[in-house]
Amino acid sequence: MLRRLDLRSAPLPRTARLRGLLPRAEQDVDAVLHQVRPIVEDVRERGAEAALELAERFDRVRPSAVRVPAQTLQGALSALDPGVREALQTSIARARAVHGDQRRTDLVTQVAPGGTVTERFVPVRRVGLYAPGGLAVYPSSVVMNVVPAQAAGVESIVLASPPQAEHGGLPHPTVLAAAAMLGVEEVWAVGGAQAVALLAHGGTDTDGAELEPVDMVTGPGNIYVTAAKRLLRGLIGIDAEAGTTEIAVLADDTADPVHVAVDLISQAEHDPAAASVLVTDSVELADAVDRELATRVAATKHTERIREALGGPQSGTVLVDDIDAGLTVVDAYAAEHLEIQTRDAREVGFRVRNAGAIFIGPYAPVSLGDYCAGSNHVLPTGGCARHSAGLSVQTFLRGVHVVEYTEEALREVADQVVTLAGAEDLPAHGEAVTARFAR
Ligand code: NAD
Repeated sequence: MLRRLDLRSAPLPRTARLRGLLPRAEQDVDAVLHQVRPIVEDVRERGAEAALELAERFDRVRPSAVRVPAQTLQGALSALDPGVREALQTSIARARAVHGDQRRTDLVTQVAPGGTVTERFVPVRRVGLYAPGGLAVYPSSVVMNVVPAQAAGVESIVLASPPQAEHGGLPHPTVLAAAAMLGVEEVWAVGGAQAVALLAHGGTDTDGAELEPVDMVTGPGNIYVTAAKRLLRGLIGIDAEAGTTEIAVLADDTADPVHVAVDLISQAEHDPAAASVLVTDSVELADAVDRELATRVAATKHTERIREALGGPQSGTVLVDDIDAGLTVVDAYAAEHLEIQTRDAREVGFRVRNAGAIFIGPYAPVSLGDYCAGSNHVLPTGGCARHSAGLSVQTFLRGVHVVEYTEEALREVADQVVTLAGAEDLPAHGEAVTARFAR
């Protein structure tokens, strides 16, 4: 079922070429910029009115207002299935435990007697968090966005999620209930590129209330959401691009083919464009996984979507000579999710450089991380894990340097400042120091 790429018995190509050979979902964000730019412009000029019209076009429903009333949030929570409520509580509690530990305390460095630099970690004041709601709805993404923002101390949070035609133009009730459980009071019924634009520019709601713009937008979304974030970056801060999901499994002959197959299937379930990649030095394992896939894909609910994802050019099995070569391959690929199902899995996993999140051994499937591991599931895709991390408390903090020098401490370093200012032909910089000691 999975196409094969055989990289055995020859030296692996250098990283950039190797990256080009590996199966990968091609999400050409630039190709939709021409569609998204007019949406962003329209919302900048006409605010909520434009966003509501765009909802009619793309979501097939016009919400009566952007902001969801507080009693609607509480009503969704009251009506929530008790089993789902309990599961969300577990998800929230574990995520809060992990993200609570990510809080930073100020760092004070004494550079010289009388001279200190303090790094203060200051949260962004107001953030817009996006929970997708197109092909599927993601209350879990509400948890994964809100928990780190709250742990960072963000003062003002607004959650945006697409209006659903079958729910009277409100975001999905489970999304609303999750927001209520987390204590989020401001929820906007707006999705896609228009959501990012309205969060960035603000506007006026149908009842005349202000929709206050935010300083930063985070959260996963489809290609239109990503394109809008790219266009508005600068006016607002954004997180790493979290696009179509992907899993890579690095496995040897000790891996259980059932575990590997069910995990490849579970990520393929998200989207026909999702990527599932197996990297292994065992042909026997690859064959056994293919056999498992053949029976299990036919028996699961979203067979068509999964078949398309697993059969697409973005998915496949990569055969390598040994696990060291496998590590080179997974580092070049930089998967959003990477599972290690090998001997000494922990030792192998800690040698990985590039991955959004790493799942070690037979009992840490990616779907645990999607919901209840405590780790964050908003992770960089498309190879962005080479340079970016998933959502965390750090995403919402800025390190601000506070410089404090006494007269003596400045005098002690004055000559060096003057010399460097002279070397850059900026003598007024030097004079700003010497003038203080001239009188
Ligand atoms: P979405 O909320 O991102 O997008 C839905 C919106 O797209 C709609 O409200 C609509 O306004 C807009 N839209 C649809 N068609 C359009 C068009 N032709 N032109 C302009 N706008 C259009 O929901 P989705 O589509 O289900 O996508 C969610 C994505 O997020 C999936 O690919 C999923 O895999 C991914 N995801 C990623 C992570 C992660 O952490 N990486 C987590 C959860 C979900």
